[in-house]
Amino acid sequence: MPSIRLPLVQLSHLDHLWFQVGGTLCNLTCCHCFISCSPKNTSFGFLSLAEVKQRLEESIVLGVKEYYFTGGEPFLNPDMTDILIETLKYGPATVLTNGTVLKDIWLQRLATAEAASLYSLEFRVSIDGFSPATNDPIRGEGTFARALAGIQKLVAHGFLPIITAARVWPIERDREVIGEFLNVLKSAGYSRPRLKILPTLQLGAEEARTRGYTPGERVTADMLDDYDRSQLVCEHSRIVTDRGVHVCPILIESPDSLLGQSLAESLVPYAIQHGACTTCYQYGAICSNASSLPARPETPA
Ligand code: SF4
Ligand code: SF4
Repeated sequence: MPSIRLPLVQLSHLDHLWFQVGGTLCNLTCCHCFISCSPKNTSFGFLSLAEVKQRLEESIVLGVKEYYFTGGEPFLNPDMTDILIETLKYGPATVLTNGTVLKDIWLQRLATAEAASLYSLEFRVSIDGFSPATNDPIRGEGTFARALAGIQKLVAHGFLPIITAARVWPIERDREVIGEFLNVLKSAGYSRPRLKILPTLQLGAEEARTRGYTPGERVTADMLDDYDRSQLVCEHSRIVTDRGVHVCPILIESPDSLLGQSLAESLVPYAIQHGACTTCYQYGAICSNASSLPARPETPA
């Protein structure tokens, strides 16, 4: 029998280390959340300051260049401010937040820590529409106003948050929607807004809202031939959860994504055989900080 070639992705170097610092707990219940986070979802727990510190130490010998924090909502974790302050001793940090629970006292401490650090602290704030009418049906009643207030707080403390929006509109409307976003953000006092549009992932709550991946939506080994694998998060990243170290932030709920208990154990190749891998393959760099207008409409592979 001919052997089947797996779509294996080798970790080139552990550049980015992610932390599922908020577990799956969130103050919101967005209807497109790909890990179905909510105020009641405790499937994954918080990471404590001590746990993060241990991983930061572990990461030094591996030459990790940047640290990312996600959830759930990271700022529900009572250690979050201290975790970011500690991380800024090791490298640049980015935290993904829904922007609705930010407190001035935390941002003041973080602005002071960043000013004293060699490294930068980035915030990514999720909003999925440029108005309450377009955002709130996805993220919940009143969330547009609350997230915009969070962005204004960040700007007032000297941060330049990256606004991330899941594309819950037809791709043909990208330019029009992006224009509306920029106008609204500028009117709110954010004069040079940074914006990143993300594809939705057909997992978790989004699977119920629209559809899941079909069995045919899979990356094959042939598709990876001559493909720039550095576009894939799993080619240069791993994520720590309270269960261990997983291949990427997208697949933590898939049992085969858990690669080991230590960072060293997780440095193994991974076969990208999940439906969500097709979204990464098609859009690339979906977890990076780059922010821009799309230069061209993305096309299916
Ligand atoms: S998409 Fe983000 S803000 Fe919304 S429920 Fe999921 S983790 Fe919370
Ligand atoms: S979902 Fe994306 S980042 Fe995760 S293993 Fe698949 S291709 Fe890699």
